[in-house]
Amino acid sequence: MPRYLLEVPHASDECARELESLLNYNREMVAKFEWGCDDATHVGWAMVEADDKTSARMLLPMLLRGKAKVVRVQSVSAEEVTALPQAASESAPRSVLEPGATRHVRDSY
Ligand SMILES: [Zn+2]
Repeated sequence: MPRYLLEVPHASDECARELESLLNYNREMVAKFEWGCDDATHVGWAMVEADDKTSARMLLPMLLRGKAKVVRVQSVSAEEVTALPQAASESAPRSVLEPGATRHVRDSY
């Protein structure tokens, strides 16, 4: 199932109101969120699974729904990165991981 990052900003005096709204709407979502409030970044982030972007947004109460940024995200494995054409042709960090390739890169300069 697709995964979405929910990003919900709020004003510095809205922290409690946001949390109460979330608690009242969907108790399980409270535990999914991480908040930057204590570091003066008044944003909440949560990773959720949903069928589509609209369904992901509907996991939020009305108060948060309108201002939330919903982004479909995916992870990429190290193997997938090294399989990328660009990474194979020009990546110096990759060559550090492969002793044989280091000599090749050095020879090419
Ligand atoms: Zn806050």
